[in-house]
Amino acid sequence: MGERIDILGAGLSGLAAATILAKSGKEVHVHEIRKDSGARFDGDFQGIENWTSDIDFFDEMREWGLDPDEFKSNAFDVIDLIHPDDVITNPKTKGAAFRVVERGTDEHCIDQGFKRMAITAGANIHYGSKVNPNDCDIIAAGPKDSSAIAFGEIFHTDHPNHVAFQLNDKLAPGAYSYLIVIDGVGLICTCLWRQQKKSGRYLNETIAWYDEHYVLNRRPIKRVGGKGDFSLPTKYIHEEKIYVGEAGGLQDFMWGFGMRYAITSGVLAAQSILQQCDYEVEVKKRLVPLIKISAINRFLMNRVGDRGFKIVARYWMRDQKRKGDGLRFMKWVYQPGIIRKSLWPIVKIGMLRKKILADGRIVHRMPFRKSLKRDLWEPTDKALEVGAQWNLVRKGGGKLSFTESDVKN
Ligand SMILES: Cc1cc2nc3c(=O)[nH]c(=O)nc-3n(C[C@H](O)[C@H](O)[C@H](O)COP(=O)(O)OP(=O)(O)OC[C@H]3O[C@@H](n4cnc5c(N)ncnc54)[C@H](O)[C@@H]3O)c2cc1C
Repeated sequence: MGERIDILGAGLSGLAAATILAKSGKEVHVHEIRKDSGARFDGDFQGIENWTSDIDFFDEMREWGLDPDEFKSNAFDVIDLIHPDDVITNPKTKGAAFRVVERGTDEHCIDQGFKRMAITAGANIHYGSKVNPNDCDIIAAGPKDSSAIAFGEIFHTDHPNHVAFQLNDKLAPGAYSYLIVIDGVGLICTCLWRQQKKSGRYLNETIAWYDEHYVLNRRPIKRVGGKGDFSLPTKYIHEEKIYVGEAGGLQDFMWGFGMRYAITSGVLAAQSILQQCDYEVEVKKRLVPLIKISAINRFLMNRVGDRGFKIVARYWMRDQKRKGDGLRFMKWVYQPGIIRKSLWPIVKIGMLRKKILADGRIVHRMPFRKSLKRDLWEPTDKALEVGAQWNLVRKGGGKLSFTESDVKN
């Protein structure tokens, strides 16, 4: 048995690192505070994007020795893009624009797939385990603070598999909402990039919107959610500990697509321990430029409301018409020209706040923005009905796995 490596957190980044290291003969111990991998998410659908690189992410995973067939995924080449004025258009591509996976503790979930890969490789995972981070080599403990949150409802539905993405500043302040249906189970989620009291009312209103525009025959099961921590540390290795995934601030400021960064950074951390690369250098070369541009895009998005969202949606469709591929726009979003790049110093000063974390790391983080006057509106009757329906389901045992008390700014 080789040198012992301890990893804090058995999520995607920690398990990706554990798998590569155990395969290379290291004695790997992963310490997870929860009872199982994926317990943070409870059946949430999430999308793994294919636009921040020209390589299909699943091919990249295979090159690293990670097997994407270990978990269920559904590839999509088309979505409904819902404009703020309710017009629906269809960005499409040839191949997989993104894949939907399930987060949670069921066997087919991505978290469980990664757990199986790590165990098969020979890693030891200790669940329900609380250890001192200073005793670990890799910190993979996910987000700490909240820069934004997402709230969703999971339900049974008769609707065929489908993904809809909605830019609407009223239903999802500063962000977007989405509908995902996979094999008879649906998720409607709204993301709040501005902090609100009673966030549940945004979800009720969003669900009411989808109920009106899609034939869902929605039977609620549970409500889920979580927070995203958007911060750029000055260093990714601190006091000999390697920070990966969201614990290292590796998260997409624009849409919150953090899974690809989490897995990639876990792999890079392992390769660095195996002396195949220098983690600090690789992360700054491969991931930080993407995160910086996502922060610039976020800065610009924070300045617009529905009128700006409409311009974006229209531009996207015009771009698709010109280039014959809807994914090209998403790739362009992450490949900035000189003008967007030059905004970085303004973004750093204007949107990010310097913070010294408890472990001594210095980060520039995006605080949870305050609500705006326009975020206060009267709920519609349909949204009130959605809320009442959820209260009944909840009284009957429907689980709520995320509340406002989980939000820490
Ligand atoms: C509602 C929601 C929707 C999202 N949708 C998408 C999406 O569509 N696409 C996408 O790419 N990303 C999405 N994300 C982001 C994505 O989930 C994260 O970026 C990704 O999971 C980060 O991986 P990670 O390994 O850093 O953390 P996680 O996968 O969260 O793993 C961290 C692990 O560390 C454990 N842990 C925490 N503290 C400790 C401790 N002290 N000791 C031991 N263990 C600890 C946690 O229990 C957890 O198991 C979403 C996030 C949320 C909240």
